[in-house]
Amino acid sequence: MSTGSLPVLPENIFQIVFEKSPGSLLVKADLPHFTIVAASDSYLEITASSRKDILGKGFFEVFPDDEKFDEDTNARYVFTKVVETGEAIEVPTYRFDVYNKSKKQDEIRYWSCCNTPILNPDRKVAYILNTVVDITDEVKAREAALESESRLRLAAEAAEFATWDLNLLNQTFIYSPRLSEIFGHPPETVITLDDIRKQVNKDDMQNIVVKAYEQALKLGNYLYEVRINWPDGSLHWIKTQGLVIKDKEGQPVRMLGTILDTTETKRDEIRKNDFIAMASHELKTPLTSLKAYIQLLAKKLASSDDGFVINSLDKAGIQINKMTDLIYGFLDLSKLEPGMLQLVKEDFEINKLISDCLAEMKLTHPGHIINFEPQKNIIVKADREKIGQVITNFLSNAIKYSNKGCTIIISCKKTGSNVTVSVTDKGIGIKPKDQEKLFQRFYRVESERMKNISGFGIGLYLANEIIQLHKGEIGVESAEGKGSTFYFSLPLPD
Ligand code: ADP
Repeated sequence: MSTGSLPVLPENIFQIVFEKSPGSLLVKADLPHFTIVAASDSYLEITASSRKDILGKGFFEVFPDDEKFDEDTNARYVFTKVVETGEAIEVPTYRFDVYNKSKKQDEIRYWSCCNTPILNPDRKVAYILNTVVDITDEVKAREAALESESRLRLAAEAAEFATWDLNLLNQTFIYSPRLSEIFGHPPETVITLDDIRKQVNKDDMQNIVVKAYEQALKLGNYLYEVRINWPDGSLHWIKTQGLVIKDKEGQPVRMLGTILDTTETKRDEIRKNDFIAMASHELKTPLTSLKAYIQLLAKKLASSDDGFVINSLDKAGIQINKMTDLIYGFLDLSKLEPGMLQLVKEDFEINKLISDCLAEMKLTHPGHIINFEPQKNIIVKADREKIGQVITNFLSNAIKYSNKGCTIIISCKKTGSNVTVSVTDKGIGIKPKDQEKLFQRFYRVESERMKNISGFGIGLYLANEIIQLHKGEIGVESAEGKGSTFYFSLPLPD
């Protein structure tokens, strides 16, 4: 330990320290004058005053009471209270404008101050130390944040959006009043996350919300549309979209987003789809008889040597097939809404279903060779019509996307507790980057060749929906220019 003598300090060291300290003023507790006894340089600068002008004068003589201060921030009130109670009083925020010499005008400034009593030996308040801190930047930043939040909220309200914010750690759920309205309650109703979850349609909860939540945790954002039940029993649609916020360790901590009521648009869409379904259904009947007449005519004239007639009938047959495909496509379009696909499960032999689909395909597309060697009986419990639709989609794609005369192979195998059906073609094949997206709604590969092949890009989307509803798997293996294998598997009954 050093035993050196203490440095010699100037006599007025405490005065110097006080005068250099930030924003400090010392007043005597001589109510009601509060005579100023010391002021630091920065206090003088803030108040645009000089020591000789203020020292020895009463505080309120120099800084008259400002009427805009309320009781809690009024200096006279605060000083008096400090003297009476002998306790320090903090004023967290108050406004005191400062004259800016270079701009020659008053500038809005915010301050935070503390009034600490200094007691004399008989424990009475002798002085008050008033220390002020400039918090203008902090207050302005807070105001700007509040303003941008309220601007955002106004914009969201104008667009009839509801906003919400979920803390994933403690499940605190904050939302705008519009949210309750969207869920069919009066605007100010308190509604919990659990209430909301209970109102979501059960199937959509399982098939859409749960999946979207898992995906959001991985990808960081989500977008989905689901059906909700209002307390009055009516059905509504909502679209929600948002972000997942992660902490520094990459752990998801918050989810926030917007919700929009899409019921009206959805109802319009359903009306439009109903119309398409009805119109396509009506078109199917005359088209089937037209096809039958053309086939009859073709048979009758098969031995004719009028090449033009035979060629024309052939072309008419091809055009009718195209039109049939389009009409089936329209019918599929009308089933695109969530919940429109309902399964009607039954036990059936899957090889027989494949043979039936094949027989129909061969009738309409005689130019392709389709090989199928059914194995032993395999009974599945599934929706026969919809599985047939998947097989037909795979087969018609294999035909559409490969040249006439190419061989297509269809197989059906039992693998463990599943059955797997696959359709292999030697057609145009698919690039890996497109393979990932084929099962999305309206996705079609963009290429020169594709321009001449009609389609809506919904067959595989529906196939995926159907297989997912059966809790099966669907996929593709393909090499560009070499061909593709589309497959699906279904769990077999125990
Ligand atoms: P569509 O055939 O009506 O366009 P799909 O949903 O059935 O709609 O197929 C989506 C896309 O996948 C097709 O547009 C095509 O680009 C690609 N595709 C599907 N099957 C095959 C196949 N067997 N060979 C090559 N491309 C295929």
